[in-house]
Amino acid sequence: MFITFEGGEGAGKSTQIRRLAERLRATGRDVVTTREPGGSPTAEVIRDFLLSGRARPLGTVGEAWLFAAARLDHVVATIRPALARGAVVLCDRFADSTRVYQGAAGGIDAGLIDHLETVAVDGTTPDLTLVIDVPVEVGLGRVALRSGTAPDRFEADDVAVHEARRRAFLAVAAFDPARCVVVDGSRGVDEVAAEIAAVVADRLAG
Ligand code: C5P
Repeated sequence: MFITFEGGEGAGKSTQIRRLAERLRATGRDVVTTREPGGSPTAEVIRDFLLSGRARPLGTVGEAWLFAAARLDHVVATIRPALARGAVVLCDRFADSTRVYQGAAGGIDAGLIDHLETVAVDGTTPDLTLVIDVPVEVGLGRVALRSGTAPDRFEADDVAVHEARRRAFLAVAAFDPARCVVVDGSRGVDEVAAEIAAVVADRLAG
C-alpha cells in the first residue's frame, strides 16, 4: 500500500510518518519511509539543488521539471520496488505537492502539471493521501522553533503564499475524496497519530 502525507510547512508530516511507521512495524509489517523531493540517491541530489535556491534561475516552470525528474527516479528506484515486495510505503510529500506548490500556488498551468505527473509516476499513484492541515501561523511557528536550520528556498516565501498553498491542499483533497483524508494537524501529536492510525488500519483491513 502506497500512502502519501501532504500539507504545508510545519504540519507535522515527518513526525506522523515516524509514528505510523513504528506502529505498523510493531504489527510485523514491512514499512519503507521516504520523502520528496528526494527518496533515492539521484533525487536527493536534485533535492539539494532545488532547496539551496540554485535552481531559482530556471523559474517555477523549470523547478517543476526538476521536481518531476526527481519523482521519476524516486518512483523507479525506491517506491515501486518496495510496493512490489509488499511493503507499506509512507512518503513525505508526492505529486500533490507539485500540484499545490508549483501549480495552484506557483501559477503553473494545470495541464503541464498533469503531464509532468503522468510521465513521472507512470501509474504509481497513492492508495491513500493524508493531508495534514494546520493554520499557516501554527505551521510557520513550528518551523521557526526547529533548531538551527535556516528556512529553505520555499519555506522563506511570504504568508500569503503559504495561505494559498493551504487552500490548494484542501482543494486537492476535496477533488479526490476517495483517496484523500484531511487530518486536523493543529492538535497534539498523540491525538493526530491516533486518528491517522485508525484511518490506515481501516484501509489496510479493507
Ligand atoms: O517537506 P519538506 O520540508 O522536506 O520539503 C522540502 C521543501 O520543498 C519545502 O520547503 C517544500 O515546501 C518544498 N517543496 C516544493 N514543491 C514540491 C515539494 C516540496 O516547493 N513539489
